[in-house]
Amino acid sequence: MERSEIRGNHKEITMALLQISEPGQSTVPHEHRLAAGIDLGTTNSLIASVRSGVAGTLPDTGGNHLLPSVVRYTTAGPVVVGQTALDAASTDPLNTIASVKRLMGRGIEDVKSLGAHLPYEFVPGASDMPLLHTCHGDISPVEVSADILRVLKTRAEQTLGGELAGVVITVPAYFDDAQRQATRDAGKLAGLPVLRLLNEPTAAAVAYGLDHGSEGIVAIYDLGGGTFDISILRLNRGVFEVMATAGDTALGGDDIDRVVAQWIMQQAGIGDDAGHGQLRHLMQLARAAKEALTELPATPIDVSIDGVDDWSGTLTRAQFDELIGPLVQKTLSPCRRVLRDAGIRTEDLQAVVMVGGSTRVPLVRSRVAGFFGREPLVDIDPDRVVAVGAAIQADILAGNRPDDDMLLLDVIPLSLGLETMGGLAEKIIPRNTTIPTARAQEFTTFKDGQTAMSLHVVQGERELVSDCRSLAQFELRNIPPMVAGAARIRVSFQVDADGLLNVTAEEQVKGIKSSIEVKPSYGLNDREIETMLKDSMAHAQDDMEQRRLREQQVDAERVLEALEAALAEDGDRLLDAEERKVIAAAAAALQLAGKGSDYQAIRQAIEGVEKASSDYVARRMNDNIRKAMAGHRVDEFESP
Ligand code: ADP
Ligand code: MG
Repeated sequence: MERSEIRGNHKEITMALLQISEPGQSTVPHEHRLAAGIDLGTTNSLIASVRSGVAGTLPDTGGNHLLPSVVRYTTAGPVVVGQTALDAASTDPLNTIASVKRLMGRGIEDVKSLGAHLPYEFVPGASDMPLLHTCHGDISPVEVSADILRVLKTRAEQTLGGELAGVVITVPAYFDDAQRQATRDAGKLAGLPVLRLLNEPTAAAVAYGLDHGSEGIVAIYDLGGGTFDISILRLNRGVFEVMATAGDTALGGDDIDRVVAQWIMQQAGIGDDAGHGQLRHLMQLARAAKEALTELPATPIDVSIDGVDDWSGTLTRAQFDELIGPLVQKTLSPCRRVLRDAGIRTEDLQAVVMVGGSTRVPLVRSRVAGFFGREPLVDIDPDRVVAVGAAIQADILAGNRPDDDMLLLDVIPLSLGLETMGGLAEKIIPRNTTIPTARAQEFTTFKDGQTAMSLHVVQGERELVSDCRSLAQFELRNIPPMVAGAARIRVSFQVDADGLLNVTAEEQVKGIKSSIEVKPSYGLNDREIETMLKDSMAHAQDDMEQRRLREQQVDAERVLEALEAALAEDGDRLLDAEERKVIAAAAAALQLAGKGSDYQAIRQAIEGVEKASSDYVARRMNDNIRKAMAGHRVDEFESP
């Protein structure tokens, strides 16, 4: 098995690579690809997309952007998702699954310890996974999430008018591998092309364009329906790093509703013995009152529930603030903790971002502003901001943005490429490219009838393969025999979000394929990466000269190959002995020069061969035209 390198006698080379597209120029066409960001929330889920350069969430046909994360399973009918399912939660609680996000990636023991606020019946499934027992059968949390995602997928595809090419789904920063994997699985099950998972706080920061600064520290305060999260992110050269997270998995808008419902019960003289349906109804009244008080100083409340005496009253903003004061206060100790964990003070923060529907509550805003000593960012709708950031990220990952607008979240530290003729490294994915990413380039055969090609995957910044790190080597066999340069071999490099590289070579006529998977970062630590980068800068000049020489050598070889093939075909017929001698002498001179390292000498020898064979080339051309015209009238070829 030969590597595609020049070693003395070029006849040794049985497999070779030669690139036909310009270096660095991708052959992937740049069409706009439909991309979307999904906030798969505990309470509400949303899908957003960048349209005409503007990121926004997509509404359903009724104009609703938020999809309640509730799924109802029925015996016969279809699965119901969203508001209709939420409305049935009180009448059909066992078959109506809410807050499934809390169950994602959890084992059955975990789930049991989550406590009494989960009313479902659990049955053990394969590999410790809890299943929810419904009339539709036993269903996993991943399937429930997939049902939510399917609705969002359909909504986006109908609104955008095409199939989604890539989506980004957000997850809480504290999600562990199992929870992330479960989320990915749900995406896959829903038939979504998941480009990556993105941390919710990072998505919010991206939505505000905070990634455009060069560096800085930001706090993301996220108070949703049932959970509270506070995260400190540090932006460093375009890359967000989570410095610290804290929160409360049982604190959110639902708790505010509960406090208000209790107040109503007290006022209306409703006892603790109220039934489940009545309590649900009271919670709905409380929620409506809470949301009204975000805009108004007071709101009327009318209780008319079956089995309970009617009651009418008013809740003022001041009373409301007093009721929920302790809950809002409860969010501040995790805030204090993250600052301590991150080793920073509030003055070190560049911005505080508000996320989650419950941050609309005026008391929440003022307490947070007071704690951090600055006004938090609230311009983007707090329950849409995560989806919007995810959409921006998805748009970039799908390749819809010019390179200068690149958002660096995870990047590959060193360029990845292929060895080409002459032992040169051709970079396919340049270093600092965000992952996941995919790039493709076309290559062709070097020799007539070549049926196999050797692919050598390398990593590094240097021009010569011998100075780069060899990652893997594989072959593409059974290429249909063609003249040199006619075969089209498309080689694509794909790096997934975990840094795993997959290289595939595919012959374009017969579709013959071969591929290999490598972990590029494996075994390289930061210091080694740094050394490789320093080397590449130190040797930049050398490397350029080396590349020029190698390229000239490859050219020499190609000229000789082509000449040899032509002579074998018609040399005897079109040339006399004397002419052949002259051409052979020029070829011998080129062969000799090609073995040396004098760039100029090789170039001159190539010119020598071209000069010696120019008559021959002209004769071949005439000969070919004559053959093509045989049997045709001359006027057929005249231009009109
Ligand atoms: P999650 O991230 O948990 O899915 P969201 O960010 O969608 O949740 O927040 C949902 C919570 O926001 C609910 O408790 C809801 O009542 C609350 N909320 C929505 N709008 C308002 C409003 N205008 N005023 C107060 N709370 C609101
Ligand atoms: Mg949320």
